[in-house]
Amino acid sequence: MSCFDVHDPVFATYVLHNAPVKRLATGFDWAEGPVWFGDQGCLLFSDIPNNRILRWSEEGLTTFRQPANYSNGHTRDRQGRLISCEHGGRRVTRTEWDGTITVIADGYQDKPLNSPNDVVVASDGAIWFTDPHYGIMTDYEGFKAPQELPCQVYRVDPSGTVEAVITDTACPNGLAFSPDESRLYVADTGRMFSADPQHIKVFDMLGGRPTNGRVFHKIDRGCADGIRVDSDGNLWSSAADGVHCIAPDGHLMGKILVPETVSNICFGGRARHRLFITATTSLYSVILNRKGVQIP
Ligand code: MG
Repeated sequence: MSCFDVHDPVFATYVLHNAPVKRLATGFDWAEGPVWFGDQGCLLFSDIPNNRILRWSEEGLTTFRQPANYSNGHTRDRQGRLISCEHGGRRVTRTEWDGTITVIADGYQDKPLNSPNDVVVASDGAIWFTDPHYGIMTDYEGFKAPQELPCQVYRVDPSGTVEAVITDTACPNGLAFSPDESRLYVADTGRMFSADPQHIKVFDMLGGRPTNGRVFHKIDRGCADGIRVDSDGNLWSSAADGVHCIAPDGHLMGKILVPETVSNICFGGRARHRLFITATTSLYSVILNRKGVQIP
């Protein structure tokens, strides 16, 4: 059976039909937050319930950090440093070159953040992150605690100022800029145990702030958690049946079918053409005929 489900004929040129979807490692409880370190030939990702960050390379799998404050999403800043969302610490951190941890944000208007989930760094060095409540709803992926702030999207200026920039999503989750940063995509996965609509929203960036938020795409199997953009502006999204590729106009191009529910994805490999996929208990990858947008 093919691993690819073509909805738009163009998608057939995005994939390599002799390139397999490979399971690289398994045995996790809920894997998320892959981030590629091309300079070290490795991928870091979270196994949230087991409170650890793992390091995968062609040489094998090792533990990068444990305990890891129930880390979820990761990215790298423009200097290549690791930026992490921590459910347990209710904060976003940066790991410095010497290994020390710097807190980027842990509160807003004198209240603690909920449980930062996913993060991107813009070309101006500002750090954008989502803060849904998932990590404080139970003790499974963090520490159960009262929610004190709405579920919002924040921007941290390079000077350190934290600003709520999107306040009208139910539960913002994954986020990604278009290649020219004229658009911001935000996955809204809704409040746990509620009937909130789940969809990907798109915002136009005006004066460096998101505006004109509207529904961009509704995933037809499960919901969008982590999202990434390729160098041509197509959006790649996690879904219950795999990874969906969505054109800039919002239509479904095709799917990469994965046997487990996908949480997050990231581009990596020697040519940014390898899509790494965290999916429930396993880490997968597939080589594509596309490149991820260059970050940083
Ligand atoms: Mg997420």
